[in-house]
Amino acid sequence: MTGGAQELLLSRIRDVPDYPQPGVVFKDITPLLADPEAFSVLTEALAEVCVRHGATKVVGLEARGFILGAPVAVRAGLGFIPIRKAGKLPGATLSQAYALEYGTAEIEVHAEDLTPDDRVMVIDDVLATGGTAAAAMELIRRGGADVAGLAVLMELGFLGGRARLEPTLAGAPLEAL
Ligand code: AMP
Repeated sequence: MTGGAQELLLSRIRDVPDYPQPGVVFKDITPLLADPEAFSVLTEALAEVCVRHGATKVVGLEARGFILGAPVAVRAGLGFIPIRKAGKLPGATLSQAYALEYGTAEIEVHAEDLTPDDRVMVIDDVLATGGTAAAAMELIRRGGADVAGLAVLMELGFLGGRARLEPTLAGAPLEAL
């Protein structure tokens, strides 16, 4: 991705201090989504990551990973699989619980969406602590598929997510645009 494209994307991300709680700077991507050029640049770049790493499916993490993952899948010519918060998928699911700062969360995937032939690229907007992405990759492997990698718009480096994810990535690439 060119420096100009990176600058365009950065310029369309709004920092919202103290949201949703004091001390957190929320990275709001709605200005980027509302700009057709920036949205197109972003989905094209993420699709290129999918193709380059030989992905056969795209997983989007609820909820902003759906907004990005679906057009990326279409551009890359791949199927899309939603990983949702627990209780939202109607079919037979695999579930994975993971720790949050306070308490736990649980995500699910339709078991039938994953096959042993799949190499799955996980897409989300922000990598923070890495807890959500780690749980998603565990879920994909438990479903019998391979993880092609993790691709995000941005990584909050000071939270150490990349280092925490290293064992779960197990050599798979992590690309932050
Ligand atoms: P984590 O599991 O800590 O890596 O958190 C990742 C999830 O929380 C992603 O789905 C992000 O969309 C969201 N998230 C975490 N921190 C932020 C932030 N500062 N701004 C926007 N989204 C965030």
